[in-house]
Amino acid sequence: MTAAIIDGKAHAAALRGRVADAVAAFRERAGRAPGLAVVLVGEDPASAVYVRNKGKATREAGMASFEHRLPADTDAATLLALVAQLNADPAVDGILVQLPLPAHIDAEAVLLAIDPDKDVDGFHPVNAGRLAIGAEGFVPCTPLGCLMLLKDVHPQLAGLEAVVIGRSNIVGKPMAQLLLQQSCTVTIVHSRTRDVAAHTRRADILVAAVGIPRFVQGDWIKPGATVIDVGINRTDAGLVGDVDFAAAQGLAGAITPVPGGVGPMTIACLIRNTYVSACRREALDAVAL
Ligand code: NAD
Repeated sequence: MTAAIIDGKAHAAALRGRVADAVAAFRERAGRAPGLAVVLVGEDPASAVYVRNKGKATREAGMASFEHRLPADTDAATLLALVAQLNADPAVDGILVQLPLPAHIDAEAVLLAIDPDKDVDGFHPVNAGRLAIGAEGFVPCTPLGCLMLLKDVHPQLAGLEAVVIGRSNIVGKPMAQLLLQQSCTVTIVHSRTRDVAAHTRRADILVAAVGIPRFVQGDWIKPGATVIDVGINRTDAGLVGDVDFAAAQGLAGAITPVPGGVGPMTIACLIRNTYVSACRREALDAVAL
């Protein structure tokens, strides 16, 4: 058996196209473009690339991009003042503070300061709580993108065994919440789990968000399972995921490649969330995307 490759790049391009169409209709009705503000503190090269790509995707979707670049020695009060200004700005529907922040700034305090109704990253505790109880809010972009890819393979997820490797607040935990909402039977395994493979071998749906290159071995995978590899690990051999792709391909039913799987969906979901935020703020119905 050779797994079907889940083409995240194509899915993301299609989603971005649907968002652009929806944004065009929004602009007609609201008389303005949805706006996303992105704040970058310091010069971390990977963060600078992410911020540039987010700005580009925002503009390509017909939305306004407000980019704020602050020096690495910016103090917390200055950053919090900028967040307050963006919270109050009617042209801004989404606010994203690029992580990681320099060590002298308390990142949690900054995330808490963002208006939850503009928190398109879905990292504010209010949005984490809304996700946990199934209320309307914002879902973090990476797990949201994973769910969209999964639903394309399994329009009906109810009853499936889902195993998520990793329990971070930005990927593992919200991923597990989303799968639970879809009525999967969900197991979260993590760094203190006794026998990770014993769990993964039962999984119809396996999501790996560990940050260890090729952590998931071929014989950890149930034949026919759908495998979503969130990992982005830079190695001497280039970018690799958290799954041993070559080995997994012989067992899985469907699998995301790295790169070209989950990664492109993250930015597409960010602009999707920004569009949804703009609709909510203008009390317009959002197109289902
Ligand atoms: P993290 O470091 O915050 O969390 C890693 C998780 O893996 C932890 O919860 C930990 O318990 C678990 N873990 C560590 N060692 C383990 C072990 N031996 N067995 C089982 N579990 C173990 O990482 P994160 O922010 O959740 O990111 C995970 C990966 O996803 C990274 O490679 C990151 O680069 C990638 N990522 C990709 C995107 C994207 O857009 N594709 C977005 C975010 C993160």
